[in-house]
Amino acid sequence: MKVLVLNCGSSSLKYQLFSMTNEEVLAKGLVERIGIEGSRIKHSKTGMDAVTINATIPNHKVAIRMVLDALLDASHGVISSLEELKAVGHRVVHGGEKFAGSVLINHEVIAALQECVPLAPLHNPANLMGIEAMTEALPNIPQVGVFDTAFHQTMPSHAYMYGVPYHYYEKYRVRRYGFHGTSHYYVSQRTAELLGKPVDHLKIVTCHLGNGSSVTAVKNGHSIDTSMGFSPLPGVIMGTRCGDVDPTLLFYLAEQEGLDSKALAHILNKESGIQGISGVSSDLRDVEEAAAAGNSRAKLAEEMLYYGIRKYIGAYAAAMGGIDALVFTAGIGENSVVAREKVCAGLEFLGIKIDAEKNKVRGKERIVSSDDARVSVLVVPTNEELVIARDTKRIIDR
Ligand code: ADP
Repeated sequence: MKVLVLNCGSSSLKYQLFSMTNEEVLAKGLVERIGIEGSRIKHSKTGMDAVTINATIPNHKVAIRMVLDALLDASHGVISSLEELKAVGHRVVHGGEKFAGSVLINHEVIAALQECVPLAPLHNPANLMGIEAMTEALPNIPQVGVFDTAFHQTMPSHAYMYGVPYHYYEKYRVRRYGFHGTSHYYVSQRTAELLGKPVDHLKIVTCHLGNGSSVTAVKNGHSIDTSMGFSPLPGVIMGTRCGDVDPTLLFYLAEQEGLDSKALAHILNKESGIQGISGVSSDLRDVEEAAAAGNSRAKLAEEMLYYGIRKYIGAYAAAMGGIDALVFTAGIGENSVVAREKVCAGLEFLGIKIDAEKNKVRGKERIVSSDDARVSVLVVPTNEELVIARDTKRIIDR
C-alpha cells in the first residue's frame, strides 16, 4: 500500500511517498516558491540523485500536479499509475479543541478546519489549499488530517488555561494548544522503545529544537504541558520568534513606536529570537560560528536559548514529579553537540549527565548520557512523516 504524505505551507509543499509494506520512503521532495517568481520542484527517488525542475507554479493545484507527475515520471518516478496511491496524509497545523487525534477528511472536517483558521491564520489556510488541490487532482482518494496540536489535547486545564477572564475561553477558545505534537509523540514513543521500557511508566521531557522550538512534558505517554501556547510564538527563543515575553512589552512598543498589531506580530514572529538578538542569523550554525569568533551578541543569543531550555526542563521535571529521560530532536537537537552539552550543563542535580564522547553524534539515534546518570539523555531524529503515514494507513484500514 502506498501513502503520500503532504506538508503544505503557504508557498511551499513537502512530500514523501511511503510504501507501507515495509514503511520505506520511495521518493520525497519539495516544491518551493509557489506563487512567487523562481518556483521549482526538487524531487528525489530513494537511492538516486535529486532532480530540480524549474517551472511556473502559480498555486497549490499546479504544485500537486507537478508532484504527481514527478512520481509518475519514467526516469525518476516510482509509480506507474495513480491507482497505486491509496491514501494521502496531510500535516495540519491547528486542530483546535475538536481534534485530539487524526481523522478521515470529509466535508464536516473541512468545515471544522475552516473554523480553526482564525486560530492559525498563517498555517491552516495553506493546509486547506493542499486538501482542496488534492481533492481536485484525485477526487476519490481518501485523505487523512494529522494535527500538530492533537498530541497536546491531553494537557490538563490547569496547564492549558491562561489567567485571563474565563469568558474569553468560552467565547474564543483562547488557551494553550501547543504544536510539534507529532514530533513530540514520535520521539517519546521511540525513547521508550530505545530504553526498553513501557512509555506509560516514563516521565520524559522532549526538546524539539529547530527553526521553531518547543519543549514538552510527556508523562506516561501523554503530553501534560508544552512550551508553545495559543500560537507557536511562546516558549524558548527560536530562529526568528521571540519566545516568552511579558505582554506589556507589546503595549509599550506599540505606543513608543506607533506600531499596529500586524507590525508587532511581524516583529515578534520574523525579526526576533536568535536572529533579533544576535543580529547575525536565524540559523544556529552561523550564530555558533560567530560566538566562537568572539561576537558577544551571538554568545548572548546562544546563552538565552540554552538557559531557556534548561528552565523548561526544570519546570517540567517539577510538573511530572521527576524525570526519567530527556530527548533532543529536530535540526538543533539532532545536530548540535554544543547545544546539548550546554543545555545539560548545570542539570546534574536532577540526575542529568552527558557523556562527552557519546554526545559526539549528529542525526542518529543514540543514548548520550553517562552510564551512571539517573536520567537517560537521548538523541532521537524526529520522523513526523512516518507518524502521518502510519496514522493514514490505520484510519483507512478501519
Ligand atoms: P524546521 O523547524 O524549519 O524544520 P529544522 O528542524 O531543520 O527546522 O532546524 C533548523 C535549525 O537547525 C537551524 O537553526 C540550524 O542552524 C540548526 N542546525 C542544523 N544543523 C545544525 C548543526 N550541525 N549544528 C547546529 N545547528 C544546526
